[in-house]
Amino acid sequence: MSSKSRLGQNFLRDPQAVQRVIAALGDLTSRTVVEIGPGKAAITEGLATRAARLIPVELDRELAWILQERFSPEKGFPNVTVARQDILEFDFAAATQPPGEPLLVVGNLPYYITSPILLKLAASAASISRAVLMVQREVADRVTAQPGTREYGLLTVTLQLYGATEALFTLPPSAFVPPPEVHSTVFRWNFAPRFTELAVEEAPFIAFLKQCFAQKRKTLSNNLRAARMPAQQVAQALETCAIPPQARAETLPLTQFAQLFRTFQS
Ligand code: SAM
Repeated sequence: MSSKSRLGQNFLRDPQAVQRVIAALGDLTSRTVVEIGPGKAAITEGLATRAARLIPVELDRELAWILQERFSPEKGFPNVTVARQDILEFDFAAATQPPGEPLLVVGNLPYYITSPILLKLAASAASISRAVLMVQREVADRVTAQPGTREYGLLTVTLQLYGATEALFTLPPSAFVPPPEVHSTVFRWNFAPRFTELAVEEAPFIAFLKQCFAQKRKTLSNNLRAARMPAQQVAQALETCAIPPQARAETLPLTQFAQLFRTFQS
């Protein structure tokens, strides 16, 4: 069977990398695991023999059918339920078992929809405790970036708002068939949403972060003014938070964004 590049099909062929991905999830014996894009089962096989429950979610009809045959109760896998579905439409909350018990999520992601998948996981944070994901190296650099670096941006703060991220290891294109044009990095995301600790409300705070990062070349102050905040109020709030008037959003840690947001609200 050929690979479909429009579905981001680059199949992993490095058994050591597979073991490292599975190990990074931790103990699976009592857990429900959701695998995004199982493809030809490079990672699925090891998950199916270890996890209490496994839900591989595959969009490709032909691959999903083969997976259903291979991981059926008759073949010794009553714990596996293959979902032939678009992961962007998958209901993570409904997949928790017992209901409310957070999921583990894993996947060598189809790169053409990496950001939508990451944002979908963030929106499903209440149902997930940990994710181990393979993404394009540049994306991993962004989601694990520190303030003041070139890679730090809206995607960074959005993910880190839902939990700590850490890069684990990087693979060359030759680890896949067919080889992609980019290097790939596996990162771990331990979910622990920070809204209570930062004393901010989820939706308005995320909307505020979007305004702060609206234009990369502009200062934070200019971005906020472009969002129709009065110049004097912006200047005062920055001063209250000891943020220099020429500061860019790319230099602020989440705690400072939260402080600034609370200052505007008070
Ligand atoms: N896990 C396999 C591996 O590591 O070899 C395959 C990874 S491949 C990079 C991405 C997989 O995601 C493909 O099997 C592709 O068909 C599937 N896929 C693409 N778009 C998808 C979507 N929207 N929802 C679910 N699966 C999708």
